[in-house]
Amino acid sequence: MEKKAKYFGYSITRDRQIDYDANNHDICKIIAKAEPTLNLCISCGTCAATCTAGQFTDFSLRQVILLLRRGETKSLENEVSKCMLCGKCQLVCPRNVSTRNLVIQIGKALYDKKLSAETVNTK
Ligand code: SF4
Ligand code: SF4
Repeated sequence: MEKKAKYFGYSITRDRQIDYDANNHDICKIIAKAEPTLNLCISCGTCAATCTAGQFTDFSLRQVILLLRRGETKSLENEVSKCMLCGKCQLVCPRNVSTRNLVIQIGKALYDKKLSAETVNTK
């Protein structure tokens, strides 16, 4: 007879470990080609600290870049839509990352990916 596990009033939380190799890094490569200053980012967070959109939302360009580099692109479309493209972050970035164009390129790459997926699905 199968033994039932004792219920202690809580359950085991889902593993949040990042499987870097299983993630898709193609989008990051496409964006790095379109905006090579992406490779200069040192994740210092200065952009996020001064971000206009960050004052009203939980948007963080630093986090967006980290997710992009990890290949975790699921939430990116929603995230970059919060950016107001004011360019303030570009003025303070110590690495001269072209942040404004980076956001534009991320949005474009995600849109192109969605479009090509839709085209494949309708064929
Ligand atoms: S300020 Fe520049 S170097 Fe620092 S996290 Fe933002 S983009 Fe990267
Ligand atoms: S361009 Fe976007 S990420 Fe940069 S400061 Fe403005 S709202 Fe924030």
